[in-house]
Amino acid sequence: MQIDASRIAKELYGVDATATRLNGEFDDNFHLKGSSEYILKVMREGCDRAFVEMQCAAMEHLGESRLAGGIREHDGRIVWMLHWIPGKLLADTKYHSPRLLRNFGHLLALTDAKLATFGHLSTRRELKWDLKRAFWIRDYLHLTPDPALIERVLAMAPDLTTLRHSVIHGDANDHNVVVNGDEAALIDFGDMHYTATVCELAIASAYVALNKKDPLTAISHLVAGYHSLEPAEIAALFPLILLRLAVSVVNSAHRKTLYPNDPYITIGEAAAWEALRALSKIHPRLAHYVFRQACGLKPLEDWTPPKAAAPIMDHLDSAVVLDLSVGNATEMPTPDSVAIGRYNEARLFYTEPMFEGRTIHLGLDIFAAPGTPIFAPLDGTVYAVANNAKRLDYGPVMILRHEGFFTLYGHLAETPLPIGTRVKAGEEIARVGGRPGNGDWPPHLHFQIIRDLLDLGCDFPGVAAAGQREVFTTISPDPNLILQLPIPTARTKEETLAGRREHLGGNLSISYDEPLKIVRGWKQFLYDDTGRPFLDVYNNVPLVGHSHPRVVEAVQKQIAVLNTNTRYLHDNIVLYAERLTAKLPLKICYFLNSASEANELALRLARAHTGREDIIVLDAAYHGNTSTLIDISPYKFNGPGGKGKKPWVHIAPLPDDYRGPYKRDDPQAGSKYARHVSEILEHATPAAFIAESLPSVGGQIVLPAGYLKEVYKSVREAGGVCIADEVQVGFGRLGKCFFGFEMQGVMSDIVVLGKPIGNGFPLAAVITTAEIAASFDNGMEFFSTFGGNPVACAAGLAVLDVLEEERLQENALVVGDYLLRGLRSIEHEMIGDVRGSGLFLGIELVRDRETLGPASTEASRVVNRLRERGILAGTDGPHHNVIKLRPPLCFRKEDADRFVAVLEEVI
Ligand code: PMP
Repeated sequence: MQIDASRIAKELYGVDATATRLNGEFDDNFHLKGSSEYILKVMREGCDRAFVEMQCAAMEHLGESRLAGGIREHDGRIVWMLHWIPGKLLADTKYHSPRLLRNFGHLLALTDAKLATFGHLSTRRELKWDLKRAFWIRDYLHLTPDPALIERVLAMAPDLTTLRHSVIHGDANDHNVVVNGDEAALIDFGDMHYTATVCELAIASAYVALNKKDPLTAISHLVAGYHSLEPAEIAALFPLILLRLAVSVVNSAHRKTLYPNDPYITIGEAAAWEALRALSKIHPRLAHYVFRQACGLKPLEDWTPPKAAAPIMDHLDSAVVLDLSVGNATEMPTPDSVAIGRYNEARLFYTEPMFEGRTIHLGLDIFAAPGTPIFAPLDGTVYAVANNAKRLDYGPVMILRHEGFFTLYGHLAETPLPIGTRVKAGEEIARVGGRPGNGDWPPHLHFQIIRDLLDLGCDFPGVAAAGQREVFTTISPDPNLILQLPIPTARTKEETLAGRREHLGGNLSISYDEPLKIVRGWKQFLYDDTGRPFLDVYNNVPLVGHSHPRVVEAVQKQIAVLNTNTRYLHDNIVLYAERLTAKLPLKICYFLNSASEANELALRLARAHTGREDIIVLDAAYHGNTSTLIDISPYKFNGPGGKGKKPWVHIAPLPDDYRGPYKRDDPQAGSKYARHVSEILEHATPAAFIAESLPSVGGQIVLPAGYLKEVYKSVREAGGVCIADEVQVGFGRLGKCFFGFEMQGVMSDIVVLGKPIGNGFPLAAVITTAEIAASFDNGMEFFSTFGGNPVACAAGLAVLDVLEEERLQENALVVGDYLLRGLRSIEHEMIGDVRGSGLFLGIELVRDRETLGPASTEASRVVNRLRERGILAGTDGPHHNVIKLRPPLCFRKEDADRFVAVLEEVI
């Protein structure tokens, strides 16, 4: 029967609204949109009133004013109305950020805490979803493709009788969670029941595991958010999650036999099987440790290590301690004397697929000549031996059993002692293996403590994933607790952060909610201290790629020979000036160390030349960190901590043809923006007009056609000079042209270059006309101690060589266009504009495409999520709602594809 939901809403609740039908299994639900939004629920025929009353009472008990209209009747069916919760269902949300999962977990904990004091007769019910009653599935195992797996899950099912009991929501599945950004809300309290409280989290966990590459980590975020579990509940959680997935797949199998044509039954079935299979491969004790850690408990109880009764090898006192961390080594060395490789060190050389990206070394390495004897440090019994012959594996390996723990010895000379052999501390137990054999590693002993072998025997891993570092370093504590060698410990990321907070100024900001400790760069990638590579899509300084070997070599060579100042003759500075001026009609160069110094000098040149003081700048501009440059940077002087505009500064509106008053479809937009500069010139006599040729800090803006032509003309007519800040956009990034002002068909009087021209080496330049240079040459010496030194110029020359040889400007054009097309193909209501040229692009996020309300917090969220997914981007623009893209120019199409795919997922 057709239900006129609008009419019902009007008649029963006096609400004027249009209605859209929602999916529902038994009841008829409608989304009502009027001056407010509601959900109208018309219950199935014969629905028990107590069932609806239970839900209303629960919502009231939870203190949420969800109820918008009380229980009524229409045509013999119960009707009620709730406030609409805006957002998307978790099931329809592509990216489940750690923060979202933690918030969801926290929400469940709050709900359960409140429901602990909720009583309603209807919650005492026999539900097939109650995990205490899960054993009904035993009768239907034969309907499933893998009854043995379900049997194993049933055999693991924990006894819940002694655990906390309470009323729970009972069905926090991904269709009952509404997501808004990183916030979550629970809907549909129709499956509430009284049971063991931990079942709430188990049910939610089962759904969070769906469609995840790493379901355990995803669940651990949920558990961390929930947090308030007793140890016995944590112990029950993992088997309960498996049990819930088992109930789900058996229920689907059963219902398929009852209703063979119902497509809804099989939705999610494959994903549930996949999650069940993936989770069932994880050792339950490992999952238990991970969940304990997530709840703030130690993964394993405390352990008192025994001290070695005997040295494990001779001559260890003189051993050198090596630094094989990500920032220091890319391959395992072959030291020529005894040396130690550290425990809990992230390393880059576990690159074979078998390591699955694991980087954290769990043992201690002792490098020694093949054949060097190894002694038992403690009494023990040989527990397991093997020859793991694969390349980069342990080779011959032995595990000794001690009281309450094990020790592992890898990369041995030959298959060692037989299982069951009792050994005494100090007894020779094996010898160091040589190459090839023992995994083909440089000869060394890998020595590791293992408190729980997780039934892995000699396959127990020697390296762990960074995400499980805490858990695995608890299972495998520091071997030096036993060996007691003098090994200095490395500074952790947390210690670096603390040191920085102690000694560096507070307004030196740190990117991202979760700070990064970056220790290595290569091409378009940056590596953090755990060895995780990040695709760098916004660092415009390493123009030709991070740590480009040509630039590195040029700097190393020159600094080894000479670095001094410009008061002596040297060819590098002259060569570099020749190369730069060959690209411009301007002939005179000044060299400095930073773009700030260069802009500062540009202002001095303009003032010396014109004898005037005033400067015209664009709104939202940033030109550098010196006092004068802060004074001409509205982004700063009008921003937090800013002291406002000085009288000699004149602000022209930012020619933003997306957000500004004159839009992209207006062919006169350039002229109209330029007219504002003319208006300033009616009452001001400026020394200079300074602008980025494509305002980057202003939000990756492409100036409308004709703008600079008209502005430069009127500024020059008024006696001023035109300065192009090319710090971000110059040097080939734009693809179409080498400098930004070329896009506008103009030539500046002073060109300022910085950041990318030294590829990270401090180098900046000001290039100008002979006339302006002559005005500046007024008797006062110009000198910058480091500016233009031979090393900096060597870096600059190498950058130009690489740009040309690797045809990077062309690459910027091709890959930039490709990326732009990819970005424009993303359909998302928040993407208001995608613009730019070459590898200088901006994605402007808005809340509303009509009002252009900036989506600033959303942009920050997207950038943080990109970081979580291994991509580094940032925001810019006066509203911080423009995602800026300006990667090293060696960016490839596959990097562009990856960026587009991940952005689409996380936005
Ligand atoms: N000009 C522009 C356009 C810039 O973006 C910056 C730095 N963000 C500077 C000048 C100043 O550069 P530096 O910090 O290297 O002095």
